[in-house]
Order: sequence, then C-alpha cells, then structure tokens
Amino acid sequence: MMWLHTARGVYSVKSGYYVATQVLRGADWTESSRGVCGSKVWTMLWKLKVPNKIKVFGWRVCQNILPTRDNLVHRRIIDDDTCELCKSTSETVIHALWECGVARDVWASSLVKRQKCAGGQQDSMQLFEEMQGRLTREELELFLVQAWLIWSQRNRISHGGKLQSPTQLNKRAFDLLTEFRQAQEQLTIASRTSTVSRWCPPPNSRFKLNFDAAIFPDLKCSGIGAIIRNERGEVMGAMSAKEQQVLDSTEAEVLACRRALEFAIDIGFSELVIEGDSAQVLNSLRSTATNLSRLGHIFDDIQCLMAGLLWVEVKLVSRNANGAPHSLARYAKNIVEDVVWLEDSPPPALEALYVDSLQS
Ligand SMILES: [Zn+2]
Repeated sequence: MMWLHTARGVYSVKSGYYVATQVLRGADWTESSRGVCGSKVWTMLWKLKVPNKIKVFGWRVCQNILPTRDNLVHRRIIDDDTCELCKSTSETVIHALWECGVARDVWASSLVKRQKCAGGQQDSMQLFEEMQGRLTREELELFLVQAWLIWSQRNRISHGGKLQSPTQLNKRAFDLLTEFRQAQEQLTIASRTSTVSRWCPPPNSRFKLNFDAAIFPDLKCSGIGAIIRNERGEVMGAMSAKEQQVLDSTEAEVLACRRALEFAIDIGFSELVIEGDSAQVLNSLRSTATNLSRLGHIFDDIQCLMAGLLWVEVKLVSRNANGAPHSLARYAKNIVEDVVWLEDSPPPALEALYVDSLQS
C-alpha cells in the first residue's frame, strides 16, 4: 500500500486515525505534507476552470513528478540533466517552466507579468503558492494554461518540433481558455435542464462513502473503488485496490462494499451514508432478513461493521451518481499495490468529481 503519512510509507491504523483527526479538525497540511499533498495549492487547482488534463499537469508540477531531465536522471533513465534548450543548467521543473530563457520570453510577453513574482523560488510548489497569493482566479487559470503550453512545447522541441513565438503561444493559451470557458457554460446549462440523477452531498457533519467494483477477466481479478466526501463534496479519502477473482458482479460489489467500509472505519469515519449502484447488495443490506446466498458471510461482515458505526444510512443510487468510485475501481486495473488518497482529489476520478460538482 502506498501510504503517505508514516515514515516507512506503510499504512497503520494509528497513523490513519491521526490523519483522519487532522482532516476532521480541518488542519492545514501544507507544511507537513509539502510536495506530497500540498492541500492548499491542490484545493486551488481543483477549483480552477481549466481542462482536467491541465489540472492534472498542475498537480504533477506541484508533486515534482514531471519527467524533466533532472527527474529522469534521479530515476536513472538518462545521465545528463542539462536543459536541452538553453544548455546552461539542470532542467528542473522550475527551470523548465519559469527560469529557462524560452519560458521567460513567454512570461515577459504575457498578461501575467513575470515581474509580479520575483525569482528565487525553491521549487514549483513555492512558485504556485506565491502565484495563488498574487493572481486572481482568472489570471491563475491563464498562468496554468501557459505553463502547460510551455511544457508541451518543450516536449515537442525535444522530438524535433519548432519553437513557437511567445506571442503565438500566449495567444493559444488565451484562445484555449476562452473556448473551454464557453464550452463549460453550455455544459452547465445542459446539466441544469437534465433530469438524470446525480451524486448529492451528505447531510451536514456526516460523510458519504461511495463504492463500486470492476471485473478484469483477463487479469483474473477484480477492482474496487471507494471515496468519502463531506457535505461540501470535498474528498476526505479515496482508495483504489485490487480484489480477488469473482464469479459475478454481485460478488465483486459485495467485496467492494466490505473493503470500502473497512477503509472508511480505518481512517476514522463513523457517521456515514453508504452508497452503491448494485441493487442486490444495497437491498440485501437494507433488509433485516439473513442473506443465505454463498455470499452470506460477507454480508454478515458488512452488517457487523455497520453496527459499529454511530450513524449509518444505506442508499441505492444510479450509475450516474456513482461515477467517482467507478473510475477508481477501473483504475485498479493498472496498479500493483493499493493506492490511498487523503484529503486529496484522486487524479483517476477527477472527471467524475467534476461532473458531480456541477449539480451543486
Ligand atoms: Zn533551459
């Protein structure tokens, strides 16, 4: 399991409770988890109205995981970290996006004046934090799109592409953002008029746990996705994990339900709305009759876990309202170990989370 909050990176219930209490207290994690969660910056990124791939780019910048030459050297993929464009220094993230001559030219001819932010930032997270303090939301959106185009251009050039003039690049950033904003307006209007059922936040001070399963017959296993959100729709915790091989979708769903509930309890949540899109599983959990199927013992486990909660409600929802855990369950196909995200929007579910956020 990839766990970000203990020294060895191994999940323990104790650290889980610690983290969950911090989440519940609304503690500011920016310092303690810098470069890992950067929750303040990430919350800002999440609210920006830019295409999801650009949000994910921003997230990768802040995590310092862009494949710059410096990072590739650290990963022992190449030996030389020198910037291919200016050939003067190491290509770090901050160099590629901000300090390299090619990037400077773009910022110099931009609305987002480079002068607004003096140089000398240690890393891209610090740069983003400063930008967050100085720019309006619209300016931040443009800033991020420009950074993304600068990065895309670097990649194109290393594959033999041509350098665009700074004016051209900035015009493209502006056009891209304008088109995106117009498309979003139309999407919002469409979603207001649609009657499709959607995800809705839990009641005040309670949390909603959505779970889903996916079956991967070729890999002889299944996947589970779980996500916990608060009354504002903010992600408290999420998980993507592989499960055993299953006979049918009910088995996959009931395993996902048990695993999701264990996860929620492990990280400290005890007042939950549990939502899934499997009628068999949810109806059986709501019924008082004992489930006598071959899956009965798993249903018993779940009932037992539910009995330990302070408050619980079980709800069957349509697939449209369960998109986020669906994406996380699908994502399990690509992972080796379980992945957990805390107080962080999980990148594999960004699009679904965005759709969920539209209706509120
Ligand atoms: Zn350079």
